Amino acid sequence: MQGLEISKLTKSFGGAPVVSDVSLKIEQGSFVCFLGPSGCGKTTLMRIVAGLEEPTDGKVLFDGRDMTHIPTHERNFGMVFQALALFPHLDVADNIGYSFRYRVMDRKQRAERIDELLELVDLPGMQTRRVDQLSGGQRQRVAIARALAQEPLLFLMDEPLSALDAKLRDHMQVELRQLQRKLKITTIFVTHDQREAMTIADQIVVMANGKVQQVGSPVEIYRRPANRFVADFIGQSNLFDAILLSRTEVRLSDLTLAVDAVPADPETGETVTLCVRPESTILTPAKSATTGLFGKVTFVRDLGSSVEIFLDVDGGQVLASLPPASWQTMAHEREFRISVAPGSATVLED
Ligand code: ATP
Repeated sequence: MQGLEISKLTKSFGGAPVVSDVSLKIEQGSFVCFLGPSGCGKTTLMRIVAGLEEPTDGKVLFDGRDMTHIPTHERNFGMVFQALALFPHLDVADNIGYSFRYRVMDRKQRAERIDELLELVDLPGMQTRRVDQLSGGQRQRVAIARALAQEPLLFLMDEPLSALDAKLRDHMQVELRQLQRKLKITTIFVTHDQREAMTIADQIVVMANGKVQQVGSPVEIYRRPANRFVADFIGQSNLFDAILLSRTEVRLSDLTLAVDAVPADPETGETVTLCVRPESTILTPAKSATTGLFGKVTFVRDLGSSVEIFLDVDGGQVLASLPPASWQTMAHEREFRISVAPGSATVLED
């Protein structure tokens, strides 16, 4: 296979596994985020790919070649970490040029290549600026240029933007994505920030407790979370107990809802957990509806671009999210029947 293949990787520290039996295929040219809470093992997994950590078990293949025991410096993978490890006393050109130290190149070639890379990361003319005289975002770009200078086969980034303020971070996410599209370089980006992963990735690998919970595009993971952990970790969700009527239908209170991709385990008649995203709920004033969960409004939060409505229902709380214009027409109501937009309910694995 072209690209990266991780096969049955396990890593234990002192007998305790922090990465457990992870298998993944990352296609040539794609941008993949390892996403999960602190301590879930995402950095360890990336460090194994980089060759900075030996796996306890399993293999790392790149373009079909077994890299598991190849030393880091022979893998030709570019790396950018949160701590950038730039040389503060050197200027921008020498920081980038450091990547050329093993290359045969004359001064002119070296200078031209540095110019090209600075152009690429949108820092033209910065060659002689000292790194400690740059802003956080500019330093980040120098680190990216330095990693790209070695023309890596794979680009590995561990929380590279987490030290930046929110606005610059948003800006750099878009820039990084555009740069990656232009260069078509296979990239792995580690983050614990779900919004960042949703913005930047083609594919997200959601991890918890050293295990992969789900792999999919941002939209797939949001619309069809595999289990409670993913439903909870990515965005907001309403979880309901429902009865499985068939492989394509569930019953929620007095509603019959169509579902797809029902996990294999539960059998017809069993209680399953149903996930419904807040924007997939439909509210109808109780006086003009006869079916759906009965709910009373407890709190309304107007976020400007959407309105969140919290409702008490028998046995719990439901969060609905509506466009402001839709809410406006019924904002005076306090009692609603809650139903679900067709095709938007997901049966979770556990
Ligand atoms: P964070 O977002 O906080 O960086 P992470 O998901 O990247 O978290 P890892 O850094 O991979 O998590 O760590 C996973 C677990 O392995 C943690 O419990 C951590 O303490 C442990 N761990 C990591 N490196 C070592 C080590 N060298 N020796 C012992 N335990 C380690």
